[in-house]
Amino acid sequence: MNKENKTELLGMNIAELEKYLLSLGQPRFRSKQIYGWIYRKDISSFYEMSDIPRDLRENLDENAEISIPRVLKQRVANDNTRKFLLEMKDKKKVETVLIPQNREGNDRYTICISTQVGCPIGCVFCATGASGFQRNLKSYEMVGQILGSRRELAKRLKLQDNQLITNVVYMGMGEPMLNIEEVLKSINMINDHRGINIGQRHITLSTAGEVKGIQRLAREKLQVTLAISLHACNNQLRNQLIPLNRKYPLEILMQAVAYYIEYTGRRVTFEYIMLDGVNMGLNDAQAMIKLIKPLLANVNLIPYNEVNGLDFKRPTPSQIMRFNKWLVEGGLNVTLREERGADIEAACGQLAAKRER
Ligand code: SF4
Repeated sequence: MNKENKTELLGMNIAELEKYLLSLGQPRFRSKQIYGWIYRKDISSFYEMSDIPRDLRENLDENAEISIPRVLKQRVANDNTRKFLLEMKDKKKVETVLIPQNREGNDRYTICISTQVGCPIGCVFCATGASGFQRNLKSYEMVGQILGSRRELAKRLKLQDNQLITNVVYMGMGEPMLNIEEVLKSINMINDHRGINIGQRHITLSTAGEVKGIQRLAREKLQVTLAISLHACNNQLRNQLIPLNRKYPLEILMQAVAYYIEYTGRRVTFEYIMLDGVNMGLNDAQAMIKLIKPLLANVNLIPYNEVNGLDFKRPTPSQIMRFNKWLVEGGLNVTLREERGADIEAACGQLAAKRER
């Protein structure tokens, strides 16, 4: 069969898989077997499904496909953070980052996945924003980033372990809330205990402030963590840094966040990229305290990772400590994000798949 006409099995839930297999005259229990092979066993061919009858494997090979993205390139940082360049079925490329939970890099990993090819938001400090927008990713392509990366990682580390990835953050290329329906579908798949089996509390979804998406997520009442990319605490500066702020200014964004907290009872994280000479004055700290202190929220401070061609500068350690101190003294819960993967441009705001286009 022509490859374009094949049925895509990646992204089907058990019920959808069952319906497909029933249409082939197969018994119901086959769906659970095949689901396990796809999401737990990291196979690359139907012929590896050893408990499936040979004629069904041949039929599937002829008529169906499992399009796990291919790892085209990878870079490994000094701290063992890995950046993968993954190719989708239509040859579009995205970057995915794997961050080890210990620095030896052989333990458990957090994966940072992309939700769009490029990004339409255009934050002025971000390599992805500077690279433009191509298309939304499908839920199976988000899940596929986990499977493709896990398979590559297991191969590199010479480990057979489908629990290598334990946490997922939607902070790669793209604005997840502009693709919220596919993101929600992917969370369901990631969460399924018969498959990838990563609990909702181990999943974080970030947004530059797309209010409709925040409201949509609130209504789902998931146990995931919502992270808001704040980066400025007055509209004038935020309009310059994150163009989306002109559509949803801070007053509207904070109303949506308050609604989210009230509706879900979940603590929210505010991400704040520290840009030297831009957003780290005492007035910025005071404005942040005023905005965030009334909320059930944490602040995550991230020193800027410089991007070639963009003018922003990383602050010095003493500037970082001073800004942190102002916020803590003002009563905020603050954490300083540990630096990971900056030497391979895998850190926050550095993803662009740029050299490979
Ligand atoms: S920071 Fe996030 S929302 Fe802004 S341009 Fe980059 S990827 Fe898009």
